[in-house]
Amino acid sequence: MPDDRGGVRPWRARLSWARAVLPVAALAVLAVLDVVQESRRWPILVTGLLDEPAHLITAGLVLAAVPLAGTWPFPAWVLAGAVAIDLDHVPLYLWHDAVSGDGGRPVTHSLLTVLVLLAAAAAVRRHRIPLAGLACGVALHLLRDLATGPGVPLLWPLPGAAQVPYLLYAAVLGGLTLAAVARLLRPAPRSGVTRP
Ligand SMILES: [Zn+2]
Repeated sequence: MPDDRGGVRPWRARLSWARAVLPVAALAVLAVLDVVQESRRWPILVTGLLDEPAHLITAGLVLAAVPLAGTWPFPAWVLAGAVAIDLDHVPLYLWHDAVSGDGGRPVTHSLLTVLVLLAAAAAVRRHRIPLAGLACGVALHLLRDLATGPGVPLLWPLPGAAQVPYLLYAAVLGGLTLAAVARLLRPAPRSGVTRP
């Protein structure tokens, strides 16, 4: 039944409610993944399969919560960076002592990697968006790694492993989820309306 504004509003409203549920559902999936991961000691492959989706969700919640972060193709590079950094575990397993930082994670799990990517983004104008997106993705990866596992050699080559309580990470995710829901429920600006 059309309404006085063309009949599409109720469907749009329902659609925006459906979209607004997505961040909450994603947070619930992340919570389940972490409960399962903590329930026992899993083989490394299973741990990776449980951990990488949680990294994607962490980065996705930030992208959904922060205005302008979702402008394509930036989010694709952020999501890629949020998981691709874990490829540095491959040399860790092959040559453990050479690349392991304090806490047991590879030394590339540090702010230095983020800074190198940001410097490359500033220097290479043509690849600015991919490199800046990867830098953000790696930073968001570190956000989760700080709260899970053995800690992160955040300030490498300086010594020490950084860690934060899981509850702090959970609180940040809760805040991001609320912000994302609020953004998705906000009515979109009407197109084609001009003001005098
Ligand atoms: Zn990692």
